[in-house]
Amino acid sequence: MINIVTIDETATSVVNHNSPTADTGARSATLAVMNTTRFTSIFKRLPSRKPAWRWLLPVCLILLFLSTLLWLPLQVQRIEANERQEQLIADTLWVEQTIRFQLSRTEENLRLAGTEIAAGYLSGERLRHRLSALIRSNREIHRIVWLDAKGNSLISTGADDVTLGDFPLSSRTASAEARRIKIPQYSHPALPHSATGPMLMDYHVPLFLGDTYLGSLIASYRTSSILDEMVPWWFAQDNEIVLADSDDGIIEKRASGGSGRGIYTHRRALDLPGVNLVLRTNSVKSAPKLLPNLLVGSVIALSLGLLWSLGALWRDINRRMAAEGALREQMLFRKAMENSLLTGLRARDLEGRVTYVNPAFCQMVGLAAEELVGKMPPMPYWAPEAMEEYQTRFSQVLSGTVTPQFETVFQRAGGERFPALIFESPLLDDTGKQTGWMGSILDISDRKKVEDLNRRQQEKLQASSRLASMGEIASTLAHELNQPLAAISSYTTGALNLINSSLEQSRAVDSELLKSALEKASVQAQRAGHVIRSVHAFVKKREASREVVTIRTLFDNVIPLVELQARQFFVSIQTSVAPNLPPVLADGVLLEQVLLNLTRNAIEAMQNITPERRVLRIIAKLEASSTAPNVVVSVIDRGHGIPDDVMERLFSPFFSTKAEGMGMGLNICRTAVEFHGGTLTHANNPQGGTIFRFSLPAFTKNTTDSTAANTI
Ligand code: ADP
Repeated sequence: MINIVTIDETATSVVNHNSPTADTGARSATLAVMNTTRFTSIFKRLPSRKPAWRWLLPVCLILLFLSTLLWLPLQVQRIEANERQEQLIADTLWVEQTIRFQLSRTEENLRLAGTEIAAGYLSGERLRHRLSALIRSNREIHRIVWLDAKGNSLISTGADDVTLGDFPLSSRTASAEARRIKIPQYSHPALPHSATGPMLMDYHVPLFLGDTYLGSLIASYRTSSILDEMVPWWFAQDNEIVLADSDDGIIEKRASGGSGRGIYTHRRALDLPGVNLVLRTNSVKSAPKLLPNLLVGSVIALSLGLLWSLGALWRDINRRMAAEGALREQMLFRKAMENSLLTGLRARDLEGRVTYVNPAFCQMVGLAAEELVGKMPPMPYWAPEAMEEYQTRFSQVLSGTVTPQFETVFQRAGGERFPALIFESPLLDDTGKQTGWMGSILDISDRKKVEDLNRRQQEKLQASSRLASMGEIASTLAHELNQPLAAISSYTTGALNLINSSLEQSRAVDSELLKSALEKASVQAQRAGHVIRSVHAFVKKREASREVVTIRTLFDNVIPLVELQARQFFVSIQTSVAPNLPPVLADGVLLEQVLLNLTRNAIEAMQNITPERRVLRIIAKLEASSTAPNVVVSVIDRGHGIPDDVMERLFSPFFSTKAEGMGMGLNICRTAVEFHGGTLTHANNPQGGTIFRFSLPAFTKNTTDSTAANTI
């Protein structure tokens, strides 16, 4: 499968495309396609990672901005509160001055009238008229009374005549004081003696002619009117005004604009002759609101929004930086991969113009990328002799049908040709639209060389193998035929001896004996023929003929031959076959050869030891194994044993310690036993000598009948 990786223009997404056409063979290649130049320029534009402290300045500025936003309304509130307080003080002062001014104007008028009365210029109707005019222009005055020296009323602007005794105590005290010090005095505000009517504050003007006390002129002020008439309405609208005594006891209160809130207050002493009053003002205004709720809310919302967007920006930038880092790493990785790729890559657009080549391809054809990118056919790496093939393929490319995989020849810059294996597949963009063709090119000159070398070696190997087989056949035959030939030789020698001795003694030949010897020789000759066929089949590793062979039969066939040799070396033979021993599935002749080889080696190993020890035991029994029961045949001698150095090379072909030995016996035995699925092992005989054992799978009911049926 060919994976084509394309990266879009903005380098923000990486898209994998699996080419559908390249899914055909076992070969797979991964093609990483990148426009190196494009990405290099993108990365130059990418900002490098900034350390976190770079955020410190903008964060500090934003915190400063936020704290200013919060501090500003507080500051505005404080300034406003100060301004209100100052305004109240100024207004209170102004009101106090106004009251004082009006009172003093009235005082002046009364004193003037008093002087004129004392001088006798003013009396009767004129005085009454004068006093009435004074009351009209000063609405705060309740009434004006002229009392004589005894305190009796001479003239009063009120309806009833009053005497000094009708005045409250504070007023009488003020009158006495005024008379004593000869200076007009105010009385402490008090309710009238009758306790009906408004609270009054009297102004006593003592009248003297020389030192003679003539009485007094008394103006009674309604304290409520002092506040109502003398305090401007606009001030009263915004403030609660209280007229209090020196002990802060409330004498009169005006609260036309509502009760004061106690936030902006001021007190001003209103010291009048004879009485100390206090003017207290208390604004009805509340503390300035921080800011209208809407404004505060919007500032908070704005601040929160600002913080959120800062956080979002922070996260976004971090994400972008992480993505850029990952992209950069991936780019570097892909670049490294691209540079280390041995496969040449070549991308072409739909018109056949080369749009991309990787370093491996440039190296392959010996041309720089600049010499290839943007080129239209004929390409500089096209060999002139194959121009026709290239043109055919190119017209296929233009028609949109490419051969997905083909071999061709390219030319290097120096003119050298090289075989190339090319895989072509469509190049798709991230929307799946084909934008060109992608080719991966393998320089297969080395592979071709190796293939050629392999082929020649294979040929040589086959030749050697044929020779080796022949040698093996020859040596095996030579080895295996020794036995029957020796037997034939001894039978025929025996027969000849029989004939010769009969001739010498001029008596008839014992034809029975002769016949028997010749028959045995004939059997051995047939056996030799059989051996040749078996060995040939065995060496060729073809399926030898398998038959059910009982160990008893095996022994019956082999023991007579063994005895021939044993007799020669005075070796006695003991055989033992376990009762009910199952048969084995084998090539009988091969098994006989194995047993013959092992017994011959055993006999030869005992030829130089004391005759009484020359006992050869051949034991066959059944042994259980982890997989299946095995028939094990042990050939036990009491010969010279096997020294360690011999042990290592025991089964090596052509290894022998004997003068005439071929060194093939054990090797052939082991191959033959293994060929039957068995094993050949050996061990030292505890009584001296060696034990060779070969085991073969027993042919029992468990053995698959089908196998038996096929091979028997
Ligand atoms: P060859 O009999 O022709 O020498 P073999 O492969 O049959 O070849 O035996 C290889 C060698 O193994 C022999 O030369 C001998 O030294 C050793 N050998 C084999 N069987 C025995 C045995 N029963 N006792 C001692 N040595 C043995």
